[in-house]
Amino acid sequence: MRKADYNVLIAGTGVAGLCCALNLPADMQVLLLSKAKADESDSFLAQGGICMLRGKEDFFGYFEDTVRAGHYENDPAAVRTMIESSPAMIAELVSYGVRFARDGAGNFRFTREGGHRRPRILFHGDETGKEITSHLLAAVRALPNVTVRENAELIDLLAEGNECFGGVVRDAATGGTEDIYADFTLLATGGVGGLYKDSTNFRHLTGDALAIALRRGVHVEHVNYVQIHPTTFYTAEEGRRFLISESVRGEGAVLLDKNGNRFCNELMPRDVVTGEIREQMQKDGTDHVWLDMRPVGKTVLEEHFPTICAHCREKGFDVLKEPVPVVPAQHYFMGGVKVDLNGKTSMKRLFAAGETACNGVHGRNRLASNSLLESLIWAKRAAKAMAAVRGLGIGRFPVSDKRMYQNYTALKQAYADAVREEAEREECCD
Ligand SMILES: Cc1cc2nc3c(=O)[nH]c(=O)nc-3n(C[C@H](O)[C@H](O)[C@H](O)COP(=O)(O)OP(=O)(O)OC[C@H]3O[C@@H](n4cnc5c(N)ncnc54)[C@H](O)[C@@H]3O)c2cc1C
Repeated sequence: MRKADYNVLIAGTGVAGLCCALNLPADMQVLLLSKAKADESDSFLAQGGICMLRGKEDFFGYFEDTVRAGHYENDPAAVRTMIESSPAMIAELVSYGVRFARDGAGNFRFTREGGHRRPRILFHGDETGKEITSHLLAAVRALPNVTVRENAELIDLLAEGNECFGGVVRDAATGGTEDIYADFTLLATGGVGGLYKDSTNFRHLTGDALAIALRRGVHVEHVNYVQIHPTTFYTAEEGRRFLISESVRGEGAVLLDKNGNRFCNELMPRDVVTGEIREQMQKDGTDHVWLDMRPVGKTVLEEHFPTICAHCREKGFDVLKEPVPVVPAQHYFMGGVKVDLNGKTSMKRLFAAGETACNGVHGRNRLASNSLLESLIWAKRAAKAMAAVRGLGIGRFPVSDKRMYQNYTALKQAYADAVREEAEREECCD
């Protein structure tokens, strides 16, 4: 009997795609696709850190902080799952060689960000994402059952009768497309920032899986729930916005208006601080406000935030001597392809995890540093769910109509329009 090309097809090499591959049994053949280079994912950009439950006594506070930030629209079962799974996931990361900041006695050090009542965020300088994702990528590259294909883009699903049999993959070098059959497919293509003029995300993250899901009738949710980060470095230049992590404010940095006066509580959840900044910019008639990092102190700035200090210096600002201009920008996507607690979508054999998916953890607004954690945990759960029902075989091999993908520019425009239209439709009905 004809077999699928792979047991699992994974679109995306961020933390979600990688963690799924790492948690699949060694005798399952896996193909990982990356639209760009494998290390060009938002997971590499994460600065602030990753949350972790700090013992039983922290459960209520962590839960409450998450749902309060999410305007109580979060799915309680999903939040509970994420929080309870966090210590084991951190231990798993450490087992791959990931290093988090520790004190002299070897215990974890924790930092704080907006919306958290206490420090519960693990970090590695201001490059936590790079530290985690580079270790996971190295571990994946060492697996004999996993193939990583770069510059290979999922442009459609091979679907029939609400069942997924793999995907249509476009090679960036040749422009050609190929049908790849798989017993299971995981959508892990990250967020939607590339659809926005001002975003902290990589430009190639354009909500592809979401558009494909819309096209194929897979359930999506809250496509209008987009998080704006309050503090990105202000510049008149085009391109990706450089993030100034919230943990800088968690460590004491303050926001100032055009006259050098504080105008808000910097540690409120992101949507609140963003609203205050926008209001202040309007009052002042400016296109940015100022972030003064001097209260953080030289030692912490240099030890904990070297990348941020270097970026500001490169742009002509010495954070030890002067405030830097900051402006809100698109940052994170809370909505996505609707999944259950195991990452299953409404389509048979199709899973989703990471920023592409909506599992209900974040509600209307994500609490800082919950997304790496949530992405990892759902990717692992999806891997376990696939492994549990493996061996079914696909039986059907639908063939894509190549003419549909010939005009790539028109296809991508149609996908972007579909995502925007769905967001507008949901906004109206909200
Ligand atoms: C600047 C910045 C700082 C952040 N800081 C933090 C933080 O401190 N803590 C935290 O928890 N979260 C943080 N986040 C959010 C977090 O990094 C992301 O939510 C998380 O990394 C998403 O992981 P992912 O695997 O879902 O997607 P990503 O890491 O974005 O990976 C997406 C992958 O999908 C691939 N892809 C896209 N489209 C296709 C396609 N059509 N076909 C094939 N492949 C495709 C991409 O090439 C990429 O490999 C930050 C985000 C940014 C942008």
